[in-house]
Amino acid sequence: MMDELRELYQEVILDHSKNPRNFRHPEDANHEAHGYNPLCGDTVSVYLKMGHNGLIEDAAFVGKGCAISLASASMMTDIIKGKTEAEAREIFDGFKKLVTGEENDFDAGEDTDRLMMLAGVKEFPMRVKCATLPWHAMTSAMDEKPEVTTE
Ligand code: ZN
Repeated sequence: MMDELRELYQEVILDHSKNPRNFRHPEDANHEAHGYNPLCGDTVSVYLKMGHNGLIEDAAFVGKGCAISLASASMMTDIIKGKTEAEAREIFDGFKKLVTGEENDFDAGEDTDRLMMLAGVKEFPMRVKCATLPWHAMTSAMDEKPEVTTE
C-alpha cells in the first residue's frame, strides 16, 4: 500500500514538474513575490491578478528548482485560481499543518485529494520547504512583500 501510494505520488509530482500548469508571467498581474529556498536552491516567482472583491482572478508562476517545488507551484496556482484571498490563506494553513504532521486530514472540498498528494512530501522532511515555498510566495504577494525566503 505504501509503495503504491509512493508510486502514485511520484507520478503526479513528475507530471506537474515536467508539464507545469500556469507557468507564465501574466502582464496584468497586480501582485507578485519572489521566493527562495536556500536549502535546495529553489526559486519561484508567483504572480496574482487580484480583483477588487479579493478574488484571485489569475495565478501563475515562473521558477527554477526541484520537481517538488515546481509541482507544488503548479498545483497551487491551479487550486487558488478562482478562490478568494481568505480561502487561499485558509488552504495554505491547512496544507502547512498536513506537511508538518500537525494534522493528518484536511477538508478542502474538491482540492483535498491534490493537497493530500502534495502533503506526501512530509515523508521526506528535507523537501518540506520545497513544497511550501510557492505558498509562502503566494501569501507574500498578497501581503505586498516582494521577497520571501523559507528560512
Ligand atoms: Zn527543492
